[in-house]
Amino acid sequence: MMKVYNTLTRRIEDLVPLKDNEIRLYTCGPTVYNYAHIGNFRAYTFEDILRRVVKFNGMKIRQVMNLTDVDDKTIRGANAAGIALADYTKTYKDAFFEDLRKLNVEPAEVYPAATDHIPEMIALVKKLMDRGIAYQSDDRSVYFKVREFPGYGRLAHIDFDHQRTGARCASDEYDKENVGDFALWKAWEPSDGPVGWDSPWGRGRPGWHIECSAMSMKYLGETFDLHTGGIDNLFPHHENEIAQAEAATGREFVRTWMHCAHLRVNGEKMSKSLGNFFTLRDLIEKGWSGREIRYVLINAHYRTGLNFAFDALEDARRSLARIDACVEKATDGDTPDWAKKRLDDFAAAVSDDLNIPKAFAALFELVRETNGKGGAGVLPVFKRMDEVLGVIFFGNEKKEVAVPAEIQAMLDRRAEARKAKDWAESDRLRDAIAAAGWLVKDSRDGQSVTKK
Ligand code: AMP
Ligand code: ZN
Repeated sequence: MMKVYNTLTRRIEDLVPLKDNEIRLYTCGPTVYNYAHIGNFRAYTFEDILRRVVKFNGMKIRQVMNLTDVDDKTIRGANAAGIALADYTKTYKDAFFEDLRKLNVEPAEVYPAATDHIPEMIALVKKLMDRGIAYQSDDRSVYFKVREFPGYGRLAHIDFDHQRTGARCASDEYDKENVGDFALWKAWEPSDGPVGWDSPWGRGRPGWHIECSAMSMKYLGETFDLHTGGIDNLFPHHENEIAQAEAATGREFVRTWMHCAHLRVNGEKMSKSLGNFFTLRDLIEKGWSGREIRYVLINAHYRTGLNFAFDALEDARRSLARIDACVEKATDGDTPDWAKKRLDDFAAAVSDDLNIPKAFAALFELVRETNGKGGAGVLPVFKRMDEVLGVIFFGNEKKEVAVPAEIQAMLDRRAEARKAKDWAESDRLRDAIAAAGWLVKDSRDGQSVTKK
């Protein structure tokens, strides 16, 4: 039985699928205006571990991760560069997927982009207007009436009834009826330039929060199992998602919420605004591998702060070398009881709110014992553990999980073929790539590839 800490109830609870033995998971994705930093990747590797542990426990998973490709930052970036928004964000979407591959993060089932779902967002805002819980203000933007949604603050455990009086005092300085009200639809401004969509409220663009409510419900249903993000997403983003969704449907939006703690640098959150960040590319240029970086990111409990330091990468390199040397000695066959016991310890640890440090302790115990007792029959245990960890190299897999150049070349040719609507050639290339051991997946954002 898998247990996780639910931020909503502040309790450790059993994670049981609402239906069909499938966990439906929504994970807030990147704003594609820049390269993601490794703090962001702490969140995405935590979610990768989560999905792998769900599968490890015999459940199915359907994961949706949005791509925020329209917001203040993307618009500013595109307009400053003098290029179309879609061209500007494509660079960072592609980079994001490449980085995920380097970190051996399993692809989500769906990566919906905000700009492909404007009609769904307009429909949701319209529903909220019809229900009288949204209003268009003098500034022509549409806002959500926070004080009319009972239970606002439930996720963040903030008692807004006691704070509202103060908030209202200041509210006449704003166009909004109440300072807590947040934008569902933002009216077009000259600085938006060519970016904008027509709506019943005039030209504009969706707010950030509405994107996640609309796209999660489209792909996962009005009520689904699990929603995650970094702890900074908890408030107001996730609180607002709940308000929008539940005010529109009258149903419970999400059963379980999980949040990972921040990656820090010298005690401060790693973030672009503080300027204390490393991108994955920065570290790879310094000679660290995706596998070593993944090791550091996952080897701390997701709810505890993790301080980034180069020592940790050195440690990762040494530890992985030790694992590699041991796995070379391991073979298939009947697994001895002492190794089975380590797998049991490992399974218990990962299923107990993703206790990865404890899971690694079981792995290193296995390494120690294998070095002493020999590796006959131990290989299946390493393989099973790696279904969750994704850091062990097996056999001649001693290369980075990066896509080899010849596979990339075929992928590029396939993208061309698809652009030219040459489906026969596209299929032929897909089969050729499959024959070389890689699985191509197509989505609205193009193709992605995983190792078979
Ligand atoms: P953003 O692109 O800022 O919306 O962030 C994308 C994801 O990364 C969100 O789930 C954030 O909560 C998460 N995130 C941002 N900074 C950090 C950090 N320093 N440590 C862990 N997660 C982070
Ligand atoms: Zn979100």
